[in-house]
Amino acid sequence: DADRIDTIVRLCRARGLVYPSGEIYGGVRAAWDYGPLGVELKENVKRQWWKAVVHGRDDVVGLDTSVILPREVWAASGHVEEFVALLVQCTACHHRFPAAELVEEYRARTGEELDERALLALTCPDCGSRGRFTQPSLSSGMLATRLGPDEADDSPYHLRPETAQGAFVNFHSVQATGRRRPPFGVGQIGKVFRNEVTPGDFLFRSREFELMELAYFVPPDQDEHWHRYWIDARTDWYTGLGVDRQNLRHYPHPADHLAHYSRRTVDVEYRFGFPGREWDELEGIANRGDFDLDAHAERTGVDLSYYDRAAGSRYRPFVIGPSVGVGRAVLAFLLDAYTEEETPNPIGGVDRRVVLRLDRRLAPVKVGVLPVSRSPDLAPQAAAVTAELRRSWNVEFDDSGAIGRRYRRQDEIGTPFCVTVDFDGLLDHAVTVRDRDSLVQERVSLDKLNDYLAFRLRG
Ligand code: ATP
Repeated sequence: DADRIDTIVRLCRARGLVYPSGEIYGGVRAAWDYGPLGVELKENVKRQWWKAVVHGRDDVVGLDTSVILPREVWAASGHVEEFVALLVQCTACHHRFPAAELVEEYRARTGEELDERALLALTCPDCGSRGRFTQPSLSSGMLATRLGPDEADDSPYHLRPETAQGAFVNFHSVQATGRRRPPFGVGQIGKVFRNEVTPGDFLFRSREFELMELAYFVPPDQDEHWHRYWIDARTDWYTGLGVDRQNLRHYPHPADHLAHYSRRTVDVEYRFGFPGREWDELEGIANRGDFDLDAHAERTGVDLSYYDRAAGSRYRPFVIGPSVGVGRAVLAFLLDAYTEEETPNPIGGVDRRVVLRLDRRLAPVKVGVLPVSRSPDLAPQAAAVTAELRRSWNVEFDDSGAIGRRYRRQDEIGTPFCVTVDFDGLLDHAVTVRDRDSLVQERVSLDKLNDYLAFRLRG
């Protein structure tokens, strides 16, 4: 529910996961910066995606293509023409609205279609003025920029709104140099830019974000099989990293609402619980057919087909394209991991604690090293333990304040293990390791600590 989202936004701000971008200047609307812990979480999400989709398979290779591609790419891909929104503006409050949203909202409310005249007569959802809308006008969903010093050249270059086109225009090289035959895929993670009309909802919708995308090339007659396969594989990726299956569902796009390149799209939706909406798109998995390769082949004259020597036939592969924004994935993992619980304490009462039950592979900090006090007697051992563990993991050393508070902080940022360095350890050369979820504490000797943690953090 909405409270949950607010709680996560507050936790992210307080614990240094995600901040509003350019905050000291008042921020940029719906732009976010990842703080010291956020960047760890985000990179771990990307690492797990790469591991599952690229390194873990012998039929997928990685790629890293440019943000700015030749202008013609976006004409060929259909983005110049189709990746646009029809906007109307309220002349009273100057807010712009996508016409499609007003039409959809009207249909949901009245069950009737809204024609253009009626659209212009609507009440503005923001300021309540009636009949103050302008004629609809087109706005590109792509951001544009200029290259080089030539002011006279005023036709802009576009910043990519998806990474997949980089894979399509490289199809030829990857297939030839990688000696690949379909089915094979190209995975890519990178920044993309979209001129969203209504950015918002925290990390869910921003204008600049990272995408994790696979372009999986298949023989045309196997497209449905592989589409199904990737819908399942991508769903399993989330549950394998701890997301509750109850919070995921599949949403097939109706045929008349497909993106211009898609033959069929199924979204993996997550129960984000934004106000007034229970489910929202987490990842889109499109069967793009041969739309893209066909378009680029036609424009360039380069043959983007595959010759199957064994069968003696030539075909243009179809593309199955799972695509997910890193920010949306991060938000889903955070929402799913957030838990408030009560635990009995040693003096007979209950302690309330907040725990981020993030999968150990996603947790920003793997081990917290917490000496019981700042005593100079403990400092050398605490420093030695920290230095040793840092060789393998991201470790946080914290010796300030009450130990209970320090545990709570590690719980809130999802640290799977805390190592407590105490005075007994000076005699028995051991530390106490506390498990975030079970709260079980084990005494582990210093010479076994590394192996112990390596075993429990494996994966
Ligand atoms: P939506 O309908 O929510 O605008 P979309 O259908 O335009 O999304 P796709 O083009 O399928 O999205 O993009 C693939 C993925 O990129 C989405 O599933 C989502 O995870 C992510 N994504 C899209 N737009 C944004 C955005 N503005 N901010 C963050 N992530 C986004």
